[in-house]
Amino acid sequence: MLFLDDSYLKECDAVVVSVKDQKYVVLDQTIFYPKGGGQPWDTGKIIKDNETYNVVYVGKFSGEISHEVDRAGLKEGDRVHCVLDWERRYKLMRSHTAAHLFASLLCVGTGALVTGNQLEEDYVRFDFNFENFDREILDQYVAKANELFSKDIHVKWYELPKEETMKIPGIVKMAEALPPDIPVLRIVEIEGVDRQADGGTHVHSLREVGRIELIKAESKGKNNKRVYFKIA
Ligand SMILES: [Zn+2]
Repeated sequence: MLFLDDSYLKECDAVVVSVKDQKYVVLDQTIFYPKGGGQPWDTGKIIKDNETYNVVYVGKFSGEISHEVDRAGLKEGDRVHCVLDWERRYKLMRSHTAAHLFASLLCVGTGALVTGNQLEEDYVRFDFNFENFDREILDQYVAKANELFSKDIHVKWYELPKEETMKIPGIVKMAEALPPDIPVLRIVEIEGVDRQADGGTHVHSLREVGRIELIKAESKGKNNKRVYFKIA
């Protein structure tokens, strides 16, 4: 999972470890992010000699990352070259970092908690358990977020023992959602602003996000408000 360390890797070499049903390919190392944690899977190409196999879906099954390709032909032991659809991935990285910042500002500022979150290629969806909620308040948080996106605030990721992670204020809700038998968690930190346990891919500076725009906000009940925003 090379993306856990370096989210900016666009290409890598790999060896095919196994192929199931001619189209589910496991590699010895990969840059393709598998669907999970509210972030969609990466797409791109696996190239062997002059043959191109399009990666149409990536999932994680029993700890292994499986790349679904659009045609048969790859075999165990093949040496291949992987290329990401970088435009899609980079947009998802910007959205993911934007989502962490926006949620952090809103949760700290209002006491609301995130009850659901999904990134899509063109927008981000959030659910908050937020009773007093109107467009004006949301606009204020979008403006606050955009102010921070104009600054070169560093975003970094590293591992922490679970015990230490649980002591970080505001991180507990996230950590509880993880299986209890993981001794070490990956933390994504927006310096001076937010820390979350997270396995996703992020940009290195808030400035890379650019700006966000609120698309719409709707009430899904007394304690569930849904907010959509996108990268402008
Ligand atoms: Zn995240």
